[in-house]
Amino acid sequence: MRYLISGMIVIAVTVIGLGCASQGVNKGQFNIVSLQDEWELGAQLEKDLDGQLRIIHDREAEAYINSIGQQIVAQTEMKELPWKFHLVSEQQVNAFNIPGGHVYVYAGLIQESSELSELVGVMAHEISHGVSRHGTEQLSKQYGIAIVASLVLGQNPAIYQQIVASIVANGAMARFSRDAEREADRLGVHYMYEAGYDPEGMVSMFRNLLEVRQRKPSSLEQFFSSHPLTEDRIQYTRQEVSKLQRRDDLVMNTTAYRTFRNRIVSLAQGTP
Ligand code: ZN
Repeated sequence: MRYLISGMIVIAVTVIGLGCASQGVNKGQFNIVSLQDEWELGAQLEKDLDGQLRIIHDREAEAYINSIGQQIVAQTEMKELPWKFHLVSEQQVNAFNIPGGHVYVYAGLIQESSELSELVGVMAHEISHGVSRHGTEQLSKQYGIAIVASLVLGQNPAIYQQIVASIVANGAMARFSRDAEREADRLGVHYMYEAGYDPEGMVSMFRNLLEVRQRKPSSLEQFFSSHPLTEDRIQYTRQEVSKLQRRDDLVMNTTAYRTFRNRIVSLAQGTP
């Protein structure tokens, strides 16, 4: 009963939270792309990125990352849509979301996440960018409504190729605003908590990332340029976590995750 009540409070808080999202989840004022078009654009991008990023094609590892991703997606209002999680064999500590429910997770990020809840923190953040439709919102702002509409219809191959090239070069589709980052952090904390993961993992991962930046600055260039990370963002995330009801059933780590992490580290070994 206690869990039921605390769960209901969390749902209420999440719903209120969504109501005052920066551009509104699913309906940003700059966003004219329909969900169906967005998913079609995502399918096209997935196909092109598959040839240009070093995607790990390993059935077991792919099944694992997708099972974790789906647990988080199941807490969102986009749970009916098909999402897909991809693994990239690069030492960069990076993850990114592109339109149409695709999330790319780099081997370097998995290597730096010693606990599953830390990896889930970053995945929940990326999923939240997707649920908030920050990608297409950013495209609409950057290129204008007419170009984005033609892009979705496949009528603007030049701009489309430019976007693909930029994703490959930058390990991200867009640099998000501070508001978009906060929104993704806030939603991500709630989604991971609802999925049964310790939301402290997100705070702990941010701390790790700042620490890795001191140690290996080049490995974090991509992530920091697309998701500016500052002390006050960490404080804000911590505050969001502290609003949640304590639960003693939250997952921090599992044996399955340790096995998966070892597998990714060995698959990615030798990759520059
Ligand atoms: Zn972000």
